[in-house]
Amino acid sequence: MSAQLRALLILAIALVRSLLGRLAGKRTGLPVFLENYREDRLPPVDADERDRMPAFSGCVACGRCDRGEGARIAASRGEYPGLMRVVLASSRSMPDYDAAARAIAHVPDEVLDEKEARCPTAVPFRQLFRFIRAKAAASAPG
Ligand code: SF4
Repeated sequence: MSAQLRALLILAIALVRSLLGRLAGKRTGLPVFLENYREDRLPPVDADERDRMPAFSGCVACGRCDRGEGARIAASRGEYPGLMRVVLASSRSMPDYDAAARAIAHVPDEVLDEKEARCPTAVPFRQLFRFIRAKAAASAPG
């Protein structure tokens, strides 16, 4: 049997199993996702969030958003590493969003307006931070 035919057979068997499972009342979809990934602290992402996510990764590490952040970084006593690190590192791992949410709590919203205007790639700080806060809350132990 060719590899292609074998792959088709495996897919067909999986489809039949899945359909039979649904007919038998087996849970599927979002409830199963939530159950499977709760321990990994990975909440689901909806269609609107998926559309907005590419804009979160436009950082080119120019460092302009970190200008003037020294006092907040020092006052945070290790919680806040600066905006560039939040955008480039902390915001890339959803299971660590609780730490990212603590970091961004050190930056007032009016400062984010100014930083957005300064960013050469228009990283939407406010949108990104709302996303981080929402996902951190959704994955908080319950
Ligand atoms: S200003 Fe924008 S591109 Fe520059 S480091 Fe900050 S987020 Fe990245």
